[in-house]
Amino acid sequence: KLIVFEGVEGCGKSTQMQICCEWLQSLGIPVLVTREPGGTVLGADIRRLLLEKAEDKPITSTTELLLYAADRSQHVEQELKPNLAARKIILCDRYTYSTVAYQGYGRALDMNLINQLNAIATGGLEPDLGLWLDLDVEVGFARKRGSGDIADRIEQEKIDFHRRVQLGYSKLAASKPGIIFRVDGSLTREAVTQQIQEILNPKLEA
Ligand code: C5P
Repeated sequence: KLIVFEGVEGCGKSTQMQICCEWLQSLGIPVLVTREPGGTVLGADIRRLLLEKAEDKPITSTTELLLYAADRSQHVEQELKPNLAARKIILCDRYTYSTVAYQGYGRALDMNLINQLNAIATGGLEPDLGLWLDLDVEVGFARKRGSGDIADRIEQEKIDFHRRVQLGYSKLAASKPGIIFRVDGSLTREAVTQQIQEILNPKLEA
């Protein structure tokens, strides 16, 4: 099964993915944790290109979209498909929903183009489940500032950009009931973990 974690900056994805991984392992379930961009060797290079902040190296919105698509295509073929074939549960930090939210809603690129590119990059591989850690954009940034960790090109976008991304996630979640589940990211770490486990439990039995 392919389970994707989504949400705005500072929503707690990485922490919760780690906890979720340990929980699944404790149940004896084979699990792989990976991420986009950067889940392959080539992808790590693409991630660096995408996230480094360099005034003299602007990236156009369409170029950015294509780089995310290239990263995804490599990731799907090299990591996701083989591990799904080996019957692992994959926990993936960001996937196609990020492209809809960031490049679609955030950058206002054409949604048809985005859907087409997602289809090409994934070869049709859809998530079995999406966990959207819903957190106020301001709260997420306050958390990140607390850890002194606002460095990359996208994080430094204006707050309005991140608000559009957040709106994108809420629309996506509303359009995919039963696939994308909203988790209240403003709760304590323990409460978020519990919500995630409650959503996953019935799916593990299925
Ligand atoms: O989740 P993580 O911090 O690893 O994401 C890396 C960065 O890439 C974030 O700043 C995120 O906003 C950005 N991103 C993006 N468009 C995507 C995926 C990630 O702008 N499709």
